[in-house]
Amino acid sequence: MSQDDTPRQSIGTFTHDAFERLQLDDEMRRLLDLPYRETRIELPMRMDDGSLRVFFGYRVQHNQSRGPFKGGLRYHPEVDTEHFVALSSVMTWKTAVLDLPFGGAKGGIDCDPGELSDNELEVLTKRFAERLLPIIGPDLDIPAPDMGTGAREMAWFLEAHARHAGYDPAVVTGKPVELGGSHGREQATGRGAAIIAKQALQAADIDLDGASVAIQGFGNVGRHLAHFLHESGARVVAVSDRDGGLHDGEGLDVPALCAAMGADDAPDSVTEAGVDGDTLSNAELLTLDVDLLVPAAIGGVIDCDNADEVQAKVIVEAANMPLTCEADAALAERGVRVVPDILANAGGVVVSYLEWVQNRSRYRWSAERVDEELCRRMRSAWEDVAERADEEDCSWRQAAYLIAVERTCSAIRLRGF
Ligand code: NAD
Repeated sequence: MSQDDTPRQSIGTFTHDAFERLQLDDEMRRLLDLPYRETRIELPMRMDDGSLRVFFGYRVQHNQSRGPFKGGLRYHPEVDTEHFVALSSVMTWKTAVLDLPFGGAKGGIDCDPGELSDNELEVLTKRFAERLLPIIGPDLDIPAPDMGTGAREMAWFLEAHARHAGYDPAVVTGKPVELGGSHGREQATGRGAAIIAKQALQAADIDLDGASVAIQGFGNVGRHLAHFLHESGARVVAVSDRDGGLHDGEGLDVPALCAAMGADDAPDSVTEAGVDGDTLSNAELLTLDVDLLVPAAIGGVIDCDNADEVQAKVIVEAANMPLTCEADAALAERGVRVVPDILANAGGVVVSYLEWVQNRSRYRWSAERVDEELCRRMRSAWEDVAERADEEDCSWRQAAYLIAVERTCSAIRLRGF
């Protein structure tokens, strides 16, 4: 069994490294370590068959010194407070490194959305929104979609909130475009990760045009990322999902894969998309000899058990926390360069911010304007991180945490608490 730290411990290691380098005093460390508020709410539900089930809803708000709390709502049977404490602090550092005027939060419900009917999900989401009413709002805390939720759940959340607090579309982001959602939100995380991947490869003296790439996960993030990397000339040699993957050293037919997996009648897996390639396992994909490896599925996939077998030259963390801190240290030792999740997958929260800005001014931007602003903000954050890593002679992850912690501390010092 793996001896790796839990996600909360891994985040603690990354932030404490920054606390040490910045020589923060114990008081500031305490303020940054602990979440501002942990909420757990009982959500009793009359199911379609008449039976009663009790779910729990969570919202952990980590830090709001730079602006209202911001973070997704996750529907998954195994979530709990501990889970959201780690993820809410990741959001604080992510919004800070992108210099967005937000803090960090995360929450959700301990349910399996696949097991619930549409009606049950709507009732549960609206009940959750009603019970969170006192702590949610456009200037307080702004939820967004995460694992198991999407534009539909955000629309339900908006409706329940509006019924009690008055209509304001800025209360959630990731809404359907018809209800004030932003153009470009769906592709944003994949697009942002592709922008960062190009810069990271360049820094490692590898041209994206012709570079070999392996991507784990072919959902929202992985699929759009594959599309943008392919458009830029990269050779996507392997992709995978929960059921396994496909490999072709000459490069897979990415447009065909994206079309098949994005269709209404998409197959369950890339392995059934009707695209040429040899099948391979997720474990094999992670250890392919490629220029760029992008874990874009779930957390903890590279740990102390397989880190030594990873052959990629650069890793871009499109998923949240795909590397444990032990794996991160082992890869750094071998000179593998890693772009941390708080920078690599921040495209989604950047466009969420742009959606919030559009909602507050009651004005919709064109898709081109959104893409341009996303690109500018991702590049600027990349430059901050790469420059800081050079100055301090540290990894991109250490530099990103230094910047994020420094900005958050500065806001706390200026405002007091
Ligand atoms: P998704 O549910 O659309 O897709 C997930 C993909 O990962 C699917 O292809 C699924 O089959 C695959 N997968 C699941 N379990 C797997 C396993 N054990 N091994 C291999 N593949 C597996 O999710 P998404 O929105 O693409 O998000 C992917 C990751 O990116 C998550 O870690 C998420 O937290 C993170 N993220 C997403 C966004 C966003 O805007 N969607 C933003 C920031 C971070």
